Amino acid sequence: MTDPVKAAPIKIAYLYEDLMNTYGDSGDVKILRYLLEKQDYQVTVTNISLTDDFDAETYDFLFFGGGQDFEQTVVAKDLLRHKATLAHYIETGKPMLAICGGYQLLGDYYKTAEGTVIKGLGILPLHTVFKADSRMIGDTEFDTAFGKVRAFENHSGRTYFDDPDKLKPLGKVIQGYGNNPEDGVEGLHYKNTIGSYAHGPILKNQNMATAISKLIVKNHQERITKQLTKTSI
Ligand code: GLN
Repeated sequence: MTDPVKAAPIKIAYLYEDLMNTYGDSGDVKILRYLLEKQDYQVTVTNISLTDDFDAETYDFLFFGGGQDFEQTVVAKDLLRHKATLAHYIETGKPMLAICGGYQLLGDYYKTAEGTVIKGLGILPLHTVFKADSRMIGDTEFDTAFGKVRAFENHSGRTYFDDPDKLKPLGKVIQGYGNNPEDGVEGLHYKNTIGSYAHGPILKNQNMATAISKLIVKNHQERITKQLTKTSI
């Protein structure tokens, strides 16, 4: 008998794939697809773009890549439509990876070089301020709960946590800047949502890729099992 969990495709939503994909970030999704297909799962990746309908609960994993200020401004306006579904997804511990511009937009706001304040989703208590005189660019290395991660960062936005009791960083900086030049920490780890400035892509680090692919499989199993119980009642 075929296993219904294996027979149902793993569904990945790539938020604004066409606009948010700087410095190799789409490679994160390709790596996950590779790891999951190796375990005999079928994988579908859906680009959720401007004006598209979106229900986070129908996916096993959400990916949100980096983007420059112009794209971020366009995306930020559209994104607010999805606040409720994204907040519920994150709060219920489903897996998500958000890089750079995507990570910034999970927070309250992003203040650009021109001083314009881009409203973020406001799901996580953090904010980002653009500092023109010191772009944080170069190789980066940090220690995480998954082991050491090596990547590349390129951002002018400095991210600060507004509720450090609620939010924990993804890692401790060994080389580079991470969230900002002062705190010595990189990214965010809240429930099963990971935010990071690491491009390159970050999931070329096998430890991180394996950990995230396990979370995806677990969420997929739960989603399909729930669906099956519903239909058999
Ligand atoms: N525009 C943002 C910054 O410079 C994000 C850059 C990115 O996502 N690569 O901070």
